[in-house]
Amino acid sequence: MSAAGGLGDGTRAVRAGLPEPVKHEPTLPGPVFAAHFHLPGDPTGPYTYGRDENPTWTHLERAIGELEAPDGDGVETLVFASGMAAISSVLLSQLRAGDSVVLPSDGYQALPLVRDQLEAYGIEVRTAPTGGDAQLDVLDGARLLWLETPSNPGLDVCDIRRLVEAAHARGALVAVDNTLATPLGQRPLELGADFSVASGTKQLTGHGDILLGYVCGRAGEAMTAVRRWRKIVGAIPGPMEAWLAHRSLATLQLRVDRQNATALAVAEALRDRPEELGVRYPGLPADPSHATAARQMRGYGCVVSFTLPTRARAERFLDALRLVDDATSFGGVRSTAERRGRWGGDAVPEGFIRLSVGAEDTEDLVADVLRALDESAR
Ligand SMILES: *Cc1c(COP(=O)(O)O)cnc(C)c1O
Repeated sequence: MSAAGGLGDGTRAVRAGLPEPVKHEPTLPGPVFAAHFHLPGDPTGPYTYGRDENPTWTHLERAIGELEAPDGDGVETLVFASGMAAISSVLLSQLRAGDSVVLPSDGYQALPLVRDQLEAYGIEVRTAPTGGDAQLDVLDGARLLWLETPSNPGLDVCDIRRLVEAAHARGALVAVDNTLATPLGQRPLELGADFSVASGTKQLTGHGDILLGYVCGRAGEAMTAVRRWRKIVGAIPGPMEAWLAHRSLATLQLRVDRQNATALAVAEALRDRPEELGVRYPGLPADPSHATAARQMRGYGCVVSFTLPTRARAERFLDALRLVDDATSFGGVRSTAERRGRWGGDAVPEGFIRLSVGAEDTEDLVADVLRALDESAR
């Protein structure tokens, strides 16, 4: 695994997690469909029952681990049925009644549901916004600090290293939701976090056709508890999804490179409009997130957000787009956008647009967005 450390992102992505070549076998072995494995005698691993382990997961887990921690020996990765399965497995395996946890107040829209569940189990939930490192004020006595940086959909960023130091000094563990950055854009474990957790549904797999999640962390008690949680809840990915995800990783660097570059171009074009659109993109030098993002990120992601003056204008804009589908989620090769306020969960203005930049040609996409802006203004 450590051999991957010195190589470029593209090289690492195409080779991530591949087993030693075997004559007459494919480079990436096909999905192994098995509820149970042939197991005479004493039931020893690695492969016994399909809810515990599967060789297709093993290859994918190695691949994600190599990308999240190229130089990290002893990092363990677990794949899950979805990002929420991964998130819940960390929270519910690490926290007990009477513990306190700090969650982002502006994070993924299912976190408030998780909060209700944690509180029902007797866990104290505190919240803090992502930007400005306000988490520092609510850390005392917490068992776990949950960060989502950049945050979805607000694109605020917090200083992972600084917050990890403060949390560890108080005996708290730190998990970072790395969905938006992908492991090519940010490596939370290298910044000191105990867990890097993500939805693989988004840019990691990038085609909008599978749900997946993962947890990376240093092997030890905490990860053993996460593994145990996956087993007892059974929040496991199917072998076909795991295999498709691994296949998709081969193009991760190509997709991230193109999508992030175009996202910056779109953000610049929006910034340069005469009307004030409140554009947010961590890669824009004037963005409030930029200084911290530049210190800890290697790429700024494919999501751009901005705010149109009214709901009606936002809806006209979305209708006028030709190359961008009106759909939720983000990170896919086809651009999508939505009026985020339609869900009701996030604290965003009615005209707030979250735009996920795909792999289209940059000039085509920028032109489409600017044309739709012009048309929707009329
Ligand atoms: C989508 C998303 C999740 C949830 O992932 P699923 O795969 O949909 O369960 C969690 N965190 C962030 C930041 C997300 O964008």
